[in-house]
Amino acid sequence: MEEFSFNKAINAQYNDLKENYRKIFIQAAESIRAEADKMKPSVSCNSCTVNCKDKPLNFTIFDNFPAKCPYREWQLKFIAFLNSDYKQSLKNMQKSIMLKKEDYNCSKCGACCKLAVSEHSFDELKKMANRGDKFAVQFTSVFVPYPAEIQARSALPEYFELLDSLAENKKIYFYYCPKLRDDNTCSDYENRPDICKQFPYNPLKILPSTCGYYQWREEANKLAMLIHAKMDLIEFYKNKLS
Ligand code: SF4
Ligand code: SF4
Ligand code: SF4
Repeated sequence: MEEFSFNKAINAQYNDLKENYRKIFIQAAESIRAEADKMKPSVSCNSCTVNCKDKPLNFTIFDNFPAKCPYREWQLKFIAFLNSDYKQSLKNMQKSIMLKKEDYNCSKCGACCKLAVSEHSFDELKKMANRGDKFAVQFTSVFVPYPAEIQARSALPEYFELLDSLAENKKIYFYYCPKLRDDNTCSDYENRPDICKQFPYNPLKILPSTCGYYQWREEANKLAMLIHAKMDLIEFYKNKLS
């Protein structure tokens, strides 16, 4: 009975996350479309000297326009705007979120040392580290794989379930750091890598409720998701319009 309620709670949290991101993505898409509409020219084809043959029906930002069309200029101007002012404002928002993190502290629960997750196996991470991937170099310098999932699950059952459910059907791998002492302090604190010093790197990271940064994540998560969605949409517009 207890396990059933626990799984239900995890599923609810997971579904909330997915649903929230879906809503936020739609909000981000609408906001970018509104920005594009603000810059849309009001030229009529009747007064256009190019007078091309294949005039689009709807005149949306994603239509095909010939080289000298004022609407093609609109598309190019909009890509330039997304790449400069718009992207910069998102970066400023990201900075202010990370500044807010300084109001919180690690509560030394040990969860991020006991249970780290990666979509890569240890062998893959080692290969990536050998190729110079900085994150993989740091990760493999401290973390080792759990011999079996059951050990990872029993280390932190609730956090394990949450991470596992978010992976959906993708294979993921669980790791722990042998440098963590029984009292949840780090036995190599002075030499710990940046990935330890900077954890959690952003408020999109899935955190256990025991984490001292959990509240920060709760407060900043929605804005961070909005920024993330907008950054993805910028790439989408760039690919589609260039
Ligand atoms: S070039 Fe553009 S504005 Fe001119 S006729 Fe074609 S679609 Fe219309
Ligand atoms: S090196 Fe220290 S801080 Fe980093 S994961 Fe290991 S125990 Fe945790
Ligand atoms: S999960 Fe959060 S509170 Fe716990 S050790 Fe890691 S950073 Fe500190």
